[in-house]
Amino acid sequence: MNKTILNDLAVFGGSPAFPEPLHVGRPNACHRERFLKRVNDLLDRRWLTNQGPFVTEFEQRVAEFLGVRHCVAMCNGTTALEIAIRAAGLSGEVIVPAFTFISTAHALKWQGVTPVFCDVDPRTHHIDPSRLEGLITERTTGVIGVHLWGRPCAVEALEEITRKRRLKLLFDAAHAFGNSHQGRRIGSFGDAEVFSFHATKFFHTLEGGAVVTNDDGLARVLRLMHNMGFSGYDQVVCAGTNAKMNEISAAMGLTMFESLEAILAINQRHYRHYERELSEIPGLQLMRYDEGERNNYQYIVLDIDEPKAGISRDQLVVILHKENVLARRYFYPGCHQMEPYRSDPFYGGLHLPVTDHLAGRLLILPTGEALQPDQVTGICRIIRWVMDHAPEIAQRLSKNTEGGK
Ligand SMILES: *Cc1c(COP(=O)(O)O)cnc(C)c1O
Repeated sequence: MNKTILNDLAVFGGSPAFPEPLHVGRPNACHRERFLKRVNDLLDRRWLTNQGPFVTEFEQRVAEFLGVRHCVAMCNGTTALEIAIRAAGLSGEVIVPAFTFISTAHALKWQGVTPVFCDVDPRTHHIDPSRLEGLITERTTGVIGVHLWGRPCAVEALEEITRKRRLKLLFDAAHAFGNSHQGRRIGSFGDAEVFSFHATKFFHTLEGGAVVTNDDGLARVLRLMHNMGFSGYDQVVCAGTNAKMNEISAAMGLTMFESLEAILAINQRHYRHYERELSEIPGLQLMRYDEGERNNYQYIVLDIDEPKAGISRDQLVVILHKENVLARRYFYPGCHQMEPYRSDPFYGGLHLPVTDHLAGRLLILPTGEALQPDQVTGICRIIRWVMDHAPEIAQRLSKNTEGGK
């Protein structure tokens, strides 16, 4: 595992530091016996979906946990976003940050709404409220803020602007389950907030998601829309789709709740471990969480300043991948650089310097319940060694590339 000469790096022919790949977002495990007990129960009941007892219990648990009146559980986070968008009556244009998972933009597009990309704040990585008003047109109906990395975005500033301009405000809270903003759990801000319970998220239901809101009327519409508009056995009152969560997912969610504190403690320990091992390395900075708030520490975000570090983010990614550390470039290259937005003339000439800047230098490292402390030590050891020899490594890497590899 120790590297002493450049040739010890896997990228230069050495053996990988880890025999098996270490993934970002490897699913956190639940208590297996309790999960299987619930699966047996639901099979015995033969109630597999259609607002079964586990889904109902899960919705109550989530609402209670987040301190919000309504939770409508859904089949995944993207569909939950789409339903929130439709139920809130969004149309025309909706402003979103360009630096987010593509799902935030696609959910709008898929509903026939034009996502308008706003640049982000270089410090927070969130939608920059000072750039927001300049993007509002006569067609604008709302804003979707994203609590990227689970850190709360500029909630008050967005609330103020949307209230003043009579726009709807939704939040993509896919990263933020369990986290707080000014002591209050994320989930009850804006008109509604949307969670993803995808397997890669801190808290998961295999696939799943939810829309949560304090608005009784909106909750009623969400519930209708996620079940084809059915309001009774054969009464359909609006157009809807099938976005229901199934009982096995809810069984997983209920079981995950029982491990929530344990997983959180592991994530926090890994984060502190990274913090200790990766401090004071020139050109390298670990993104911090506000310790005055609740955090799930699901994202270990490293900023690589190439001129200071002597190596680029992309070079470091190549090196780490060869060592079986599958670090990720979230959310490269930014939504505005992806299709169909990239070649749509509507976005012609769009320049989002901060999004481009961040997309070019952030690196996400593995964490979670499946990762062992000695693996964190190993990952950090490679990074530190690479940083100590950065100029030589970078030079040799770029020579290799020039030579056609
Ligand atoms: C994961 C994610 C989603 C989508 O959730 P799925 O459950 O995977 O559909 C939406 N937005 C963000 C920011 C995400 O990270």
